[in-house]
Amino acid sequence: MFLKRIELSGFKSFADRTELEFVQGITAVVGPNGSGKSNISDGIRWVLGEQSARSLRGGNMQDVIFAGSDARKAVNYGEVSLTLDNASQSLPLEYQEVTVTRRVHRSGESEYLINKQPCRLKDITELFMDTGIGKEAYSIIGQGRIEEILSTKSEERRGIFEEASGIVKYKSRKKETEKKLQETEQNLLRIHDLISELE
Ligand code: ATP
Repeated sequence: MFLKRIELSGFKSFADRTELEFVQGITAVVGPNGSGKSNISDGIRWVLGEQSARSLRGGNMQDVIFAGSDARKAVNYGEVSLTLDNASQSLPLEYQEVTVTRRVHRSGESEYLINKQPCRLKDITELFMDTGIGKEAYSIIGQGRIEEILSTKSEERRGIFEEASGIVKYKSRKKETEKKLQETEQNLLRIHDLISELE
């Protein structure tokens, strides 16, 4: 599975619709300081579900929308789409290509789409879980991240290996099930209380 295309529109410095095509092998993005290279990787992480505005180098989520320049007016929404080759069926969808889109409006409203079908953020997060390309995955190593990984606590470092080995999905399902179990136990307790009150 590899990233075939990224389309950015109204996202950070990309006011106009900009499309970047990737081919097999290594692609290097070069350009002067401040020209928007990191905005591309921010866009990738954003589509994959990044919810921290700070880690996208903004104050709030609307800061990712093109804010205007001397030559251009600000726009009302920002959008990024990633198209992944899925010939290997690494993503559990029966499509040869999968396009994931995220859009945010100035009003704060967000939209998520998988192959143009509206979905929830959770669907996107789950789609990429354990594939190695989730927002926390090791496939995107930001500036300073290598140092951070090396100096981080051993439990956090373990998280990186867990994602790589594909067990995060099961851990997350276990957590959800444990939560449901706890809620059910609480409900049972309440029912017992009610029964003993009625007896
Ligand atoms: P460096 O080589 O210094 O790391 P870079 O090429 O990675 O730079 P970026 O950090 O990706 O550059 O881009 C920074 C530019 O993006 C700045 O000029 C900033 O003004 C612009 N920018 C960021 N957010 C927005 C926004 N919401 N609207 C308009 N421009 C933005």
